[in-house]
Amino acid sequence: MQPCNPNAKIETKCLHAGYTPANGGPGVMPIVQSTTYRFDSTEHVAELFDMPTEPMYSRFANPTCDAVEQKIAALEGGVGAMLTSSGQAASLLSVLNLCNAGDSFVSASTIYGGTVNLFSVTLKRFGIDVIWVDPNASQEEIEAAIQPNTKLVFGETIANPALTVFDIEKFAAAAHNKNIPLIVDNTFATPILCRPFEFGADIVVHSTTKYMDGHAVQGGGVIVDSGNFDWVKSGKFPEFTEPDESYHGVVYTRDFGNMAYIIKARMQLMRDFGCYPAAHSAFLLNLGLETLPVRMKQYCANAMEAAKLLKASDKIASVTYPGLEDDPYHALAEKYLPNGTSGVISISIKGGRAAAVRFMDALKLASIEVHVADIRTCVLHPASATHRQLTDEQLEAAGIDGGMIRISIGLENIDDILEDLQQALDQV
Ligand SMILES: *Cc1c(COP(=O)(O)O)cnc(C)c1O
Repeated sequence: MQPCNPNAKIETKCLHAGYTPANGGPGVMPIVQSTTYRFDSTEHVAELFDMPTEPMYSRFANPTCDAVEQKIAALEGGVGAMLTSSGQAASLLSVLNLCNAGDSFVSASTIYGGTVNLFSVTLKRFGIDVIWVDPNASQEEIEAAIQPNTKLVFGETIANPALTVFDIEKFAAAAHNKNIPLIVDNTFATPILCRPFEFGADIVVHSTTKYMDGHAVQGGGVIVDSGNFDWVKSGKFPEFTEPDESYHGVVYTRDFGNMAYIIKARMQLMRDFGCYPAAHSAFLLNLGLETLPVRMKQYCANAMEAAKLLKASDKIASVTYPGLEDDPYHALAEKYLPNGTSGVISISIKGGRAAAVRFMDALKLASIEVHVADIRTCVLHPASATHRQLTDEQLEAAGIDGGMIRISIGLENIDDILEDLQQALDQV
């Protein structure tokens, strides 16, 4: 078999990139269920400890995971990728690969709640400070927030659950003017709807638990390196350009060129933290990736119909979906997400918490789940679930009212989804 053509279209890459069957070999990417590899020479193993160019231990490498990493790198247009055991682990390692105690980083304030906590509570305990900026800040304001010890800028393509669309080019320009990279969490968009590298992002992270897996069968994450950031020219990252004593003097930029970031992440962080997925998880993730283009198309189409139905209801105070023409982020969505804005909609029901609970309990097809981007339609009430510990005043400050519901539209027939939403609205 020939390896997948690097110029192939994304649907083709979803099926053929990453794994090339040998003549007579298995047609489906095999699961290599082994923690260890057997070697004939001591010297070969010694060399791997200087430069791990092939899997030797399952804490940081596996052939099945490697094939999926290569596929995701191809989908995003990057030079390399590293799977992690969760999306949280991907966000954590993407930052730790650049920041030490005493450093800071800038993040857009509208990002996933779990990442907010990771950044503002846990990383702070490690001596790494997050500086929040409004996603609507000007380029000058973003640059003004960047301090001498600031090592990166972070944002989310479509924020979960705020559904704001991130102005990647603006944040990339600000970061690059200050010689630091931009990391983008591309979970909700997936590389099918947006490839942040094309707009200047340097690193992409994902929670693969969401649309990439798609079937709600296994959690995971991934970090992808564009290979575009010049660590030497920046002058702000001595760990990339000076010898790593924990690896016999490896210099990542000298020895690995434009893969310095992703190789350093594996050789230092994955080696030491070991939050690597099992081969079987990577195999399941690959099944999700194979059908990602067809699924994303249908999520977008279904969500658009659902958003229009919800918008037309007099029981609903507001509908947030960047695909809608009057959404405040519609112009940014047209630029960054021309083929659709994914499957998640946020609504606010008139009548607050009581009305929201009545609506959700009346749904028959959609189920209440602590999940999003499932293949099945599901709903969540932030005020009584993910944001339960907040008082009404705190909820208001976080932009969450008691009537707010996050709806993740699935792949059921759209007529059935609309009928279910309508009959539940009728009961409010
Ligand atoms: C869910 C999510 C995460 C965290 O991913 P896990 O796989 O749950 O650890 C990070 N970012 C976004 C945008 C998410 O939706």
